[in-house]
Amino acid sequence: MKVGLFGGTFNPIHLGHLRSAEEVCTAFMLDRIYFIPSASPPHKRTTDIAPAQHRYTMVERAVAVNPAFCASRIELDRAGPSFSIDTIRAFRARETLTSLAFLIGMDAFREIETWKDYLEIPGLCDLIVTSRPGVPTPPLDQLLPVALRPTFWYDPVRQRYQHESGHTLTLYTLNGLHISASSIRSNLRVGRPTPHQLPPVVADYIATHALYRAQEALSFES
Ligand code: ATP
Repeated sequence: MKVGLFGGTFNPIHLGHLRSAEEVCTAFMLDRIYFIPSASPPHKRTTDIAPAQHRYTMVERAVAVNPAFCASRIELDRAGPSFSIDTIRAFRARETLTSLAFLIGMDAFREIETWKDYLEIPGLCDLIVTSRPGVPTPPLDQLLPVALRPTFWYDPVRQRYQHESGHTLTLYTLNGLHISASSIRSNLRVGRPTPHQLPPVVADYIATHALYRAQEALSFES
């Protein structure tokens, strides 16, 4: 089974996330992509993060459109900050895998040096770095952290980096949708509509639970 892991805050999940996963799933012939909401994102400075259970439920409903997609509670069920390395190690231990790929947006990849044990990540899985629609994409060698460079070599035929472990690092340019969760939240806060940005099940869930409204306490009630 060829598995992809797509981690994020998903605050909330939107059509840009789904489109990106669909493109990667097809291009890399993955059998399954796990969407993994971060319970306690170590790197997000945002204060308006909806409770993890809400974000997970929205992901679960949104991914039902594609049989290759699956929501994972792994980071909700683990105490402490949600470090990707712990998630990758857990998947490697529990899955019957022929390959494991970690999907990461270009903006998140730029910050990978701040991640726990990031030097170990390319030794555990392939990395698929996706462009951010609407944002210029620099060459991958500029994105690759200095400390990782000696462990990779560029394969010009396959147009990807090869890690000393045998895993690969590919920069994948999405057709994608230029949507961001932060602009969705800004619009929701002031009651502006968010047309064609959210799956209808997610828009309904947000309305039902009054999420992302100005000056409202965000609490989870089932
Ligand atoms: P925010 O706008 O609040 O920063 P975000 O959508 O960028 O939210 P996450 O939910 O953590 O943040 O995103 C999960 C992953 O999805 C990240 O790797 C991010 O780069 C990627 N991503 C987010 N939006 C898009 C999009 N429109 N197209 C492709 N990838 C995206």
